[in-house]
Amino acid sequence: MKKIILIAGPSGAGKTTISDYLYEKYDIPRVLTHTTRPMRVGEKQNVSYHFETDDSFKQLHFFEHVKYGSYQYGSSREALNLAWEKHDLVSLIVDIQGVYSYIKQLGDKVYFLYVTTSTKEELKERLLKRGDDPEKIKERLSGNELNLLPADLKQYAHVIVNDNLNKTKETLNSIISRLEED
Ligand code: ADP
Repeated sequence: MKKIILIAGPSGAGKTTISDYLYEKYDIPRVLTHTTRPMRVGEKQNVSYHFETDDSFKQLHFFEHVKYGSYQYGSSREALNLAWEKHDLVSLIVDIQGVYSYIKQLGDKVYFLYVTTSTKEELKERLLKRGDDPEKIKERLSGNELNLLPADLKQYAHVIVNDNLNKTKETLNSIISRLEED
């Protein structure tokens, strides 16, 4: 059965790391997100994101879209179908509002992974190490961008406390073997 693994959680928690691992180890493709933010060094068009202009962004059919600061982010039905052509299991990094939207529209096709760390300090250190702008880090670690797990989503969430990457990988291995049996 086709399923989408939604990955949500605060910045620095390890969402990208997990999504990359699922791709490298299991060929689980990432449903690309569209964004109007500028490309960072090392990122590639249609590999890291679909980088869009404001105009091209408007033409897509979104499950959800959200504005972070001055930039738009969103994930589309077109991108999901493309990924499902490659593999029955696909993953997508999404914000909390997106989780509501996908669960509402796709029901049991959604497997929701909530990724976090034990402490906020750890997130800050990772983002500094990753080279994020300290002002942006403040923004990311406050308010909606912190992507806390709301009480009404707890029943759907498979929580991963990603303090130790090897333990996280073991957890993911058992999740994927279960999903592949479905
Ligand atoms: P997100 O996509 O959630 O913002 P990333 O996957 O980019 O987070 O991870 C943030 C940084 O933390 C990256 O530099 C990544 O290599 C590192 N990282 C990920 N998981 C761990 C971990 N378990 N322990 C230490 N560092 C980690």
